[in-house]
Amino acid sequence: MKRFACGDVVTGCTWTMQVSDEADLMALIADHVAVAHGIATIDDELVAVVREHIQLVS
Ligand SMILES: [Zn+2]
Repeated sequence: MKRFACGDVVTGCTWTMQVSDEADLMALIADHVAVAHGIATIDDELVAVVREHIQLVS
């Protein structure tokens, strides 16, 4: 499983998501940042930051 905690990137955000597939996870993160943080487009720089914070969990 791959897990992402938005609070690792955006201070104070409590949103977390855990799914098996990284592509699914990135899509869910894109939805979340659009709705919760007003970021309509995830650019390469943000993708890199997000990837750094994706944790592998069993
Ligand atoms: Zn967030």
